[in-house]
Formats: sequence, C-alpha cells, structure tokens
Amino acid sequence: MQLGITGLLIFDGTHFFQILEGELGVLSKLMASIHRDNRHSDLVILLKEPAPKRDYEKWAMRLIVRAPESMTKKIDQSRRLSDFLAEYEEEVPLSRAKLIAKAFIDGAWAADKFKVRLAKEKALAIKPQQLKIHKSDGHHFAFQPIVDIKRMQISSLEALIVGADGSSPCEVLDKLTSSDQQTLDVDSKLTALEMFREMKWYGFMSLNLLPMALLEYPDSVKMISQHAEYLGLNPDNVIIEITEQEAINNYPAFNELANLIRANGMRLAIDDFGAGHAGLSLLAEFQPHMLKIDRSIIFGVANHGPRQAIVGAIIYVALRLGIEVIAEGVDNEKDLKWLISAGITKIQGFYFAKPKFEGIPNVAWPSFLVEN
Ligand code: C2E
Ligand code: MN
Ligand code: MN
Repeated sequence: MQLGITGLLIFDGTHFFQILEGELGVLSKLMASIHRDNRHSDLVILLKEPAPKRDYEKWAMRLIVRAPESMTKKIDQSRRLSDFLAEYEEEVPLSRAKLIAKAFIDGAWAADKFKVRLAKEKALAIKPQQLKIHKSDGHHFAFQPIVDIKRMQISSLEALIVGADGSSPCEVLDKLTSSDQQTLDVDSKLTALEMFREMKWYGFMSLNLLPMALLEYPDSVKMISQHAEYLGLNPDNVIIEITEQEAINNYPAFNELANLIRANGMRLAIDDFGAGHAGLSLLAEFQPHMLKIDRSIIFGVANHGPRQAIVGAIIYVALRLGIEVIAEGVDNEKDLKWLISAGITKIQGFYFAKPKFEGIPNVAWPSFLVEN
C-alpha cells in the first residue's frame, strides 16, 4: 500500500500466482527483492507489460485461496474462489493479466516436479575417447551427445563439422559456393560415419545435412545408408537432421526427401525447431521422427512463462503425433529440471557435454539425477 502497489495473490495449495500493478520503477525494485529472497523458488515471470488501467485499484493486495478442501478450511474463507470468479464473469473482455490468472485457477502453470520416472540404474559409462588416426581426406568433426536422462545413457552422438583447427561449421561451410557446399556436405558425412566406426560407436548417429544437397543428388541418401551398412553400422541408427528454416522453403520437395530417408531405413529430425517461421504449422505438412527444440526457446525456460507455454505446446502436439522431442542447448540445472518436469527426457547441451573434436566427450551426469 505504501509503495502504491495493488494486485492479487492466488494460492492453490502448492504454488502462488501474483499480479502486481504499479509504477514500473517501483515494481522492478520489488521484483528484484522477491528474486533475492530465498524463501521463493522456481520464480517464473509470465507477463510484464503496460496496462491502460489497474485491475485491482480497489484494494492493495487481495488473497484468494484455491486449495484442497482440507486446507481451505484452515484459511479465512471470506474471499472464496467462487465469489471471485463471479466477479470476473461480469467483466467482458478480461484484461490479459486476468485471463492468465484464470488459466492458473484452471490448473495451468503448475507442473509437477519430476513427473518423469527416472531410472534407478547408474549412468552407463561410455569411455570418453579421442580418435588416433586422423583422416587425410580433409573433413573433421566434433561429436556431442544427446543424452537420455531416463535411461542415463547417450541416446545419440551428433557429428558437427569443424575445420582442422576446430573452427566452427559456419567457417567451414560459408566460404564455399553453394554447389561446393552441397558436395562437401554429403562427402563429409561418409567420413563422419567412418569416424563413428573407428570410435566403435554403434548407437544412434546424428548427421546434419542441407536438404538441398540431398535433393540435388537423390542418390546421396542411398549412398549414406549404404556406406553405413558397408562399415558395419546399422543404417537404422542414422538420424538425418535438417533445420526448420530449410524445411519450410519447399514442402513438397521436402516431403519427398523425408520419404526417401525413411525408405532407406534412416530417421529424420527437424533441427532448430521454433527458430524459423513455421513453428507448429510445419507439422501439418509432414511429421518427422524427431523435433529438436531450438536453444532460443530452451534457454531460460525455467523462469519464463511464454517459453514454458511454447515448450508445453510442442510436447503436446509431438506426443499426439508420435514425434520424439529433444531439447537443445541446455546449459544449466534450472532449465534442465524444468524440462524434466515437463516430460522431456532427451537433452543436448553444454550442461552434459560440449562437442569434442574427433572424439566422444565425457558426459557429466548431475548428482540430482544419479541420486534420484
Ligand atoms: P546444430 O545442429 O543445432 O548443432 C548444435 C550446435 O549448438 C553446435 O554448434 C553446438 O556446439 C551448439 N551447442 C550445443 N549445446 C549447446 C549449449 O548448451 N549452449 C550453446 N551456446 N551452444 C550449444 P556448432 O558446432 O557451432 O554448429 C552450428 C550449426 O552448424 C549446427 O547446429 C548445424 O546446423 C550446422 N552444422 C554442423 N555440422 C554440419 C554439417 O556437417 N553439415 C551442415 N549442413 N550443417 C552443419
Ligand atoms: Mn543438429
Ligand atoms: Mn540445432
């Protein structure tokens, strides 16, 4: 009241939902002190925007309890949820803050912690290793695992092209003409497969490819699958990753490519999902085996309401369509824990392992998973 802040606090027995209205500067200071206060955990900002008027001008702060019967009885019930909702019903249209409050009352925003049942077994020790024989055909790769936190294993190993000095894929690919890029892209994947063979990696292998390269040379898909077979690797274990951005350029051609990949026994993953312009509507056109949610949506998800809603929607749609979901670029424990509670079990990111130049990196399994 002293700070001129008005608002609403709803308690559902486990989580609090709060609307704060006031001067931006005053609110920012209050938010900062809420953040510093370690009695709060899992703080998520759902919305922060200017409003034409205050919704809760009438009082300073009002508490509404939406809790199990047993709990509600112990708390002052003078402000019952039903009265409160009746008040909302009269008002049309509701402000955005009120709409989100209603979503909370209806059960949104309250993910259970660790809904996923994690395996009791110890993380499977896969020895980190470095390739000894350097290929002389000029292609180099770094390898980064995608981990399966449910089974505590490496789910797939992704080959990322690098320069001989470890320079980035962009540096390798961007200086080439488009046709050279395509040739190099396909050729280098044969080397990547040979490296998998030398590392005695018989699990899933993720390969990044430009769809143009595969479309221009239709035999390339078959060539990759046959080369895997020739090396004694299972073509069924090859996952071809294509970015969302590239996929939306030409749906019919892409559909054909997806079928070609399937016909050759391999799997297709859409990389950087959510970074391009298609989003979920891409899935109306065709359904890949896997979706890798882009780092831009994953990063900071633990404290960001809109990102949480988007990831939740992707999971919902993918589940119905039988598509596996992978979260990319996970680099901190908070985001990891949120993703696990949302039901994601396949993770790639620096938190577990950084790409290793011509070798399999060590996976750092966090203690909270191992001891779970
Ligand atoms: P990508 O396929 O999405 O690969 C993941 C990229 O994210 C890698 O960058 C990896 O180092 C980085 N990354 C993984 N975890 C984290 C994390 O926790 N935090 C951060 N900040 N970054 C993380 P990299 O190696 O620079 O690769 C960039 C992109 O280049 C790849 O993105 C892929 O789209 C492309 N690329 C890589 N190899 C090839 C290739 O052989 N052919 C083609 N066409 N593209 C390739
Ligand atoms: Mn990739
Ligand atoms: Mn990606």
